Amino acid sequence: MSRKSESRQPNNSKNNSNKSQRRLALAVLLIIFAASVFFSLSNIPWIAEYREQLLSELGIGSGEEPDTVDPGTIGTGSQGGTITFGNAKDDGKINDVAALDSSALPDYDGHHYVTVTNNVPEFDQDVYDRAGLVYDNGRWKTPGTVRGVNSKDLAPYEYYGELDELGRCTVAYGCLGLETMPERDRERGDISSVHPSGWAKAQSWERCHLIAWALSAENANDRNLITGTHYLNYDGMRPLEEEVEHYIWNTGNHVLYMAKPYFAGSELVARGVQMTAWSVEDEGKGVSFNVYCFNVTPGATIDYNSGIVTTAEQAGQEARLYVINKKSKVFHYPSCDGAKSMSKWNREEVTATRLELTSQGYTPCGYCEP
Ligand SMILES: [Zn+2]
Repeated sequence: MSRKSESRQPNNSKNNSNKSQRRLALAVLLIIFAASVFFSLSNIPWIAEYREQLLSELGIGSGEEPDTVDPGTIGTGSQGGTITFGNAKDDGKINDVAALDSSALPDYDGHHYVTVTNNVPEFDQDVYDRAGLVYDNGRWKTPGTVRGVNSKDLAPYEYYGELDELGRCTVAYGCLGLETMPERDRERGDISSVHPSGWAKAQSWERCHLIAWALSAENANDRNLITGTHYLNYDGMRPLEEEVEHYIWNTGNHVLYMAKPYFAGSELVARGVQMTAWSVEDEGKGVSFNVYCFNVTPGATIDYNSGIVTTAEQAGQEARLYVINKKSKVFHYPSCDGAKSMSKWNREEVTATRLELTSQGYTPCGYCEP
């Protein structure tokens, strides 16, 4: 509708000018409205950034702003559940502990493991009994031999302790040999069906065998898989497992072996795993160790209750916009489909750091992995 058409109504020119003023006002309001809709929904970066800044200055952008947590106060040692670790050291100095006590486990010292009782293997009586070994005159023997071990009289076996009342692995041990190992060209099976205690999505956890597949041919056995870091699984335990594996392949001998996870209190993720091995036929000359491997990631912060891991890089991130689900307590990147499809009653946008959210019990979405 143009002014020209309006001006064709000759009578009532006063009324006419009022009308056109009202229309002008309406048009201006519409433009302001359209501009605000555009401003609040636009994805153009400088607009979005300006909007976030403005809203946060007005204190309305993030709804209820979560209480901020100073990351420096989180690491409270062995009782806190959440610990920030230092970096790995490469000085070759391995410390020793006289014993392992789950109420006072050794703190990560920058190395993959500490030795236990000066690296001297020691097993519960049952470990020897099941293998058919008897203690005679200061040595472990198979019965019926004057001295030493007769391989044919040994009983190769694997034992996996029942999960405890919190669903945690307890211990695995055995007398390992070619009999317990997979055939050379056999492929490992799928273990993704097992969710060990403390398992949390999108935290780079690995399903870590207590007794390695290469030694036991055990796949998805929930009594043999714990929630472990890559540092534990790959850097800590694997070289020791390979030492045992190579020894058995090369000699055909047997190895007494125990792997035991240690948990602090009621935590669901193990702080570490004791690994003990002793070659039987040559009485420890081939393989002999007793160590406690740390289930840590150097430089990261780990919550051993929830399984939430914050890498050093993530801990250094500035606060940013996340979409949280107040009901499921999951948080997303705003671009995630899970954030877009969320019910508005549960949905909230917050500007926070990842660590602030996880320390308040929010878990990262397994899909967008924020
Ligand atoms: Zn998501």
